[in-house]
Amino acid sequence: MPLAEPYTIAYETIDHCVNIILKITTDTGICGWGCASPSLPVTGETPQSVLHDFTQTIEPWLKGMNPFRYALINSELQQFLPKSPSARAMADMAIYDMMAKRAQVPLYQLLGGYRECIATSITIGILSVEDTLAKAGEFLKKGFFILKIKGGANVDEDIEKMIKLREAFGRAIELRFDANQGYTVAQSIRFIKETMDVGIELLEQPTASAAKEMLGEVTSKVPVPVMADESLLSLQDVFHLASNNWTDLINIKLMKTGGITEAMHINSVAKAAGVKAMVGCMDESAIAIAAGLHFALSRHNVHYADLDGHLDLLDDPFAGTVILKDGVLWPAEGHGLGY
Ligand code: MG
Repeated sequence: MPLAEPYTIAYETIDHCVNIILKITTDTGICGWGCASPSLPVTGETPQSVLHDFTQTIEPWLKGMNPFRYALINSELQQFLPKSPSARAMADMAIYDMMAKRAQVPLYQLLGGYRECIATSITIGILSVEDTLAKAGEFLKKGFFILKIKGGANVDEDIEKMIKLREAFGRAIELRFDANQGYTVAQSIRFIKETMDVGIELLEQPTASAAKEMLGEVTSKVPVPVMADESLLSLQDVFHLASNNWTDLINIKLMKTGGITEAMHINSVAKAAGVKAMVGCMDESAIAIAAGLHFALSRHNVHYADLDGHLDLLDDPFAGTVILKDGVLWPAEGHGLGY
């Protein structure tokens, strides 16, 4: 799917995305939908690798299987496809879609139904200060009230941007910042120090993903909550991050975790450590965004949502599977994922 407008983050510029769509039909006529959004820098996968995983492993393993044995399915797919989280997420969300359709409830209710809607941030990629202010104005006019600003390529410009955004739009909006691993520890500390008056709600993944202790150093030295994103893919990662007090918050994306089953485990470990969660996304069709939304709605410990990856996609066959009203996301009517 092409994007309506290309965007830039600290390590790449993106003008289209490739999703793989999975449709599973049962012998009783229930239909489950899933979606993979592979990303080489984040999940280590390509569209070709997802298709290969599907034909070689997922399809033969799922044929004839009972979707209610989701824990077995999840653990077997994890064993066979340890390095294919978005391919596993695709199968996992289709299975949850089928279970909730069988139970005749929206998925978030099958999962616990903690809340009915959640506010989402809208992301502004790396643009000039002037263009960032213009883009922010457009989004606020559309009803969004939480902006996630991307940076990490130029700390001086990032600082200027955040100060000017607050000056231009006042205190009624929330500002989050995502450096996508672009900073050193010293730059992260400087960024927070010089934007203290801006009141940034959270600082996402300031430092390199592999060096988790660097994230920990930033977390211990700045007063703004720090969030792990690229540093957190697995249940082992969240245990490691949380038990060392290396992060205040985590960004759970189904494409990283391998789906809802694993996301629930990760969220529970985080909750035990007093680490709140956000549900984020990649460039994903609305069917995958719906899976992230239903998970976010189901859990008390998910306090934030960044589920905007579908908004810029042209030709999304699942458009309308989540409903956006004044910056707040609601699930579509209907059972399962609502499609
Ligand atoms: Mg991020």
